[in-house]
This record gives sequence, structure tokens and C-alpha cells, in this order.
Amino acid sequence: MKDMEKKEETGYPQGIKWTKQRKNVYAVLQEATEPLTAVQIYHLSEKLAEGGEYALSTIYRILAAFEEKGLVSKTTWMGDGTVVYELNRGEHTHYAVCLECHKRIALQSCPFAHIHLDQETDGFTVTGHKLELYGYCKDCRKE
Ligand SMILES: [Zn+2]
Ligand SMILES: [Zn+2]
Repeated sequence: MKDMEKKEETGYPQGIKWTKQRKNVYAVLQEATEPLTAVQIYHLSEKLAEGGEYALSTIYRILAAFEEKGLVSKTTWMGDGTVVYELNRGEHTHYAVCLECHKRIALQSCPFAHIHLDQETDGFTVTGHKLELYGYCKDCRKE
């Protein structure tokens, strides 16, 4: 997203009020190497805040605000319905999910890599995408 390249001196995206809690949650998402659930984000933020007061409902509110601003994307995993959040970065990873053991396997490449952001496709301006593959992993594949 083009707006995200505009950053304040602080390194935080503009257009949102940066409270200490929001900064913590943002830092947690920046550190994350894979999508996290709200509960995981909650625990990591609490750790980062070193005894700061946190409530899970606060985390949900912050994540909703981030999502509204296009800072994070929210995904519901197929199979177990887990809701996860990840920072909208320039680069991203897609996952294949095993319907049996719910293992997630990162895909090496993006199948939509040829579609550029802000490109018009069939009269539709693309600003992003989501994709999740599902099926059975090596271990669970039925013979
Ligand atoms: Zn499996
Ligand atoms: Zn992609």
C-alpha cells in the first residue's frame, strides 16, 4: 500500500494516534515471523510492556484499528478457523494448510506475483490479495 511508505520520524505509519500500547502491539507484529493470534499478540505485548496493564479486549481494539488503517491483515485459517493477524509488509508469505493436522507450510512464491498493486485488472484496481491453499500434507496424505 502506497500510504504505508510515508513514515513519521518515529518510524510509525501516519494517520493513526500512537499510544504506548499501540506501539507495543506494532513492535510485536514487526518482530513476528509468522501470523499471530490475538492471544499470542496479547502475551507478547504484555512481555514487552514489562508489567504494563493490558487486557485482551484492548488488543482486539488495537488490532481492529490497525486493520482499518490497512496496517495489518486479518486472516481466518481454513480448517480450524483460527484468526491470525500479520503486518502488511511489502513482501508477504502465503501458506498451505493441512486439513488433517492443521500444519501450515509457507509457500516459496506468490502465485499473484505478476499482479502489481494499483494495477487495473478487468476494470478493478488491485490493492492487495489474500490466498490460502488447503489440502493434506506429506504425513497426512491418504495413500
Ligand atoms: Zn497434515
Ligand atoms: Zn501474494
